[in-house]
Amino acid sequence: MTTRNQTISFLRRRLAEVGVRLKTQRGQNFLTDLNLLRLLVQTANLSPNDVVLEVGTGTGALTALVAERVAAVVTVEIDPQLYQLASEELIDFDNVTMLQQDALQSKHTLDPVMLATIAERLAEAPERRFKLVANLPYSVATPLIANLLAAPIVPETMTITIQRELAERIVAQPGTKDYGALSVWVQSQCEGQLVRLMPPEAFWPRPKVTSAIVHLRLDPARRAKIVDPDFFHTVTRTLFLHRRKSLRAGLLSGWPQSLDGPALDKPAVDALLAQLGIEPSVRAEQLDVPTFLRLSEAMARMRG
Ligand code: SAM
Repeated sequence: MTTRNQTISFLRRRLAEVGVRLKTQRGQNFLTDLNLLRLLVQTANLSPNDVVLEVGTGTGALTALVAERVAAVVTVEIDPQLYQLASEELIDFDNVTMLQQDALQSKHTLDPVMLATIAERLAEAPERRFKLVANLPYSVATPLIANLLAAPIVPETMTITIQRELAERIVAQPGTKDYGALSVWVQSQCEGQLVRLMPPEAFWPRPKVTSAIVHLRLDPARRAKIVDPDFFHTVTRTLFLHRRKSLRAGLLSGWPQSLDGPALDKPAVDALLAQLGIEPSVRAEQLDVPTFLRLSEAMARMRG
């Protein structure tokens, strides 16, 4: 099958045959370094019980490599011409379900048809496991990862290529410039590893940026500690809007409507920080994940 050798000449020929004009804003940079493509698949550590979601089918090269190893693949492609091309390339795979649509319904929600299709494939056998393997389009990588961690079914692992800066933000530690709401959200639920940096030459057309393979493994024990994930996510995102301010000032700043409940006035904030033993002058970017969890739980109790 030609898709297993996604070379530049293969891409030029097939894209010309179908008359595809690539759109950089859709992150249409194909992984042509076959060693890195194989490393991505090896890192995912796939098994015959896996149901894999791929976002961004492209020409189907990664889809084919994954489909050979797993029970089912659900692959989503927004571009109708690439969807058509990949349908031809993947015709021999009866375990691949292709969807032609946006993987996101909105910035904060995943597409419901995509989620329902994954749920159907998982329901076909009790031992099935959900994983994400994708060379992600950079423009949707952050909402996709963040929303999958809040989805009704969360992948056991996510093995993805993303922009290097995003990879560094995901694994960043407190007190560093990259540490932010996404680092806290991901690390509160997953063990994360930046596996390999990938130069622009690994892709065609060449992007302007360096990329990275990242492997995230869901940790059920960590996840179980989050009492109200939506509230926790909102609290961390809101506090990082004021990352250079003291935590006390951040807590006194405006809160979204969704955090209704008693107003956080000065005595309430001082009492909250004293009760948790948190220094009021500390900044949000210095707090580790367990402290964010304690803070959000105490705030949830204040809301009643
Ligand atoms: N999987 C292929 C590979 O590894 O070479 C292609 C990956 S390419 C980086 C990303 C693909 O995602 C493109 O084919 C692009 O059209 C598609 N895409 C971009 N935004 C999307 C979205 N919101 N939903 C689904 N697919 C999207």
